[in-house]
Amino acid sequence: MSTKKDAEIDYRQLLETEKSSLTLQLAEIGYGETGSTQLSYDSNFADSSQVTAEKSETEALVSELRSALADVNEALSRLDKGTYGICQGCGLAISSPRLEAIPTVKYCIDCASVHKKR
Ligand SMILES: [Zn+2]
Repeated sequence: MSTKKDAEIDYRQLLETEKSSLTLQLAEIGYGETGSTQLSYDSNFADSSQVTAEKSETEALVSELRSALADVNEALSRLDKGTYGICQGCGLAISSPRLEAIPTVKYCIDCASVHKKR
């Protein structure tokens, strides 16, 4: 019988899953992963203020999704470089439960409370 260690969580798998889901969401609302930032709205609706509101709502969502996607890509490149799971603040290993909860996390709990970007 093989005993699985907690440390053997497949973070790449987690990140790839996250990446496909984000890419899909962006594609669904009409924004490709690297596509243009402009959505073309039907000109018939151009004078509707509701469209403007919807548009800015969509753009907020898109920028949120894009930044999440950038985080995922960054985490994947850290996996490639072998620096994944290492705190960018203090250089110590980030605990696995934390990585498991937030696979794109860059800081350990201590440094995150100092940086507090979110
Ligand atoms: Zn740290």
